[in-house]
Amino acid sequence: MPVPAADGNADQVLTIAVLPGDGIGIEVMDAALAVLRQLQQQVPGLQLRLQHCSAGASEYQQSGTALPQETLQACRNADAVLLGAMGLPHVRQPDGREVTPQIDLREHFQLYQGIRPAYLHHDMDTPLRSVQAGEIDLIVVRESTEGLFHSRGQQVAPDADTVDDLLRVTRTGSHRLFHAAFRLARQRRRKLTLVDKANVLPSMVLFRRYFDEIAEQYPDVQTERMYVDAAALHMVRRPQSFDVIVTENMFGDILSDLAAALVGGMGMAPSADIGEHVAVFQPCHGTAPDIAGLGIANPIAMILSLGMMLEWLGTETTCSAAALLRTAVVTALRDPAVRTPDLGGNCTTAAITQAVLAGLQAG
Ligand code: ATP
Repeated sequence: MPVPAADGNADQVLTIAVLPGDGIGIEVMDAALAVLRQLQQQVPGLQLRLQHCSAGASEYQQSGTALPQETLQACRNADAVLLGAMGLPHVRQPDGREVTPQIDLREHFQLYQGIRPAYLHHDMDTPLRSVQAGEIDLIVVRESTEGLFHSRGQQVAPDADTVDDLLRVTRTGSHRLFHAAFRLARQRRRKLTLVDKANVLPSMVLFRRYFDEIAEQYPDVQTERMYVDAAALHMVRRPQSFDVIVTENMFGDILSDLAAALVGGMGMAPSADIGEHVAVFQPCHGTAPDIAGLGIANPIAMILSLGMMLEWLGTETTCSAAALLRTAVVTALRDPAVRTPDLGGNCTTAAITQAVLAGLQAG
């Protein structure tokens, strides 16, 4: 992972900005905080000061802004940010778009690395035949500040009959992304796949050229280059062959959902959005309004995001807490009965959380 916010091994008090957001974001955040409380009881010296902040569609309804200045300031000052999910389909800006403060945060703090791991905990969670637990273990690194999302803020005139979206690739944006992806690959199985569309789009020709430049500095990492359509095919056919995948914003958006589907869906997919000064940890899923309030949201993605945060904080104490958490999730999910309805089970959010807490106590 990139340079952590904290250094040294002293048991310093770390500040975490906590943004539950909307819908199931609030429910899965409750679950993650229960796990964190248990970890604080079990890991001596794990000192985290939680600063609860408001942002999202509900905040927009109340105050007219989805991301208040004081929340931005708290994120800037915190050692890390833990986020639930934000946005609600019926809460719209005057031009008709949903509020997306989670994307605004990425742009505001230049969180250019979208780190999206997909790990198969149990054979029963994948729609693929003949893939065993542990055989899918990949990370999509999604560029998160430019690419095809670059012009997302443009207004669409009511009488428009043509709109162009711009796919932006820059040297600075690409170099920092590729360095991060190569560093990550070095910590894993040392294989990095570039996903692009360099056979058609000039922006992607440049993207690949920048990749090749940076690759020369990491001769110990095996590289491959793949067009995005082929990547979608191969991820389904032979997901075991991927280690780290690096790609532009929109391709990463789509392929990380595909990767999530291979290991059980959005409820199993954690993520980190990392910049030079701020890092945000959140599940890949949205607010799931269709199941919000029913108490059946899968909290695993949120709990695993908490684990990524603890690991990224990088002190001996937070790393041992992260390791405990990971083992507890593995232990809990070994039991096929520990599944929410999105995975074909009938557990509640609370029951899954209890299973993880029990795994912690057992660990
Ligand atoms: P966004 O655009 O913000 O990513 P979305 O509307 O595309 O949001 P989600 O909110 O992630 O997507 O929901 C997509 C589907 O996945 C919904 O049917 C939802 O119920 C389901 N889902 C998402 N997250 C979870 C979860 N943690 N547990 C159970 N089901 C979930």
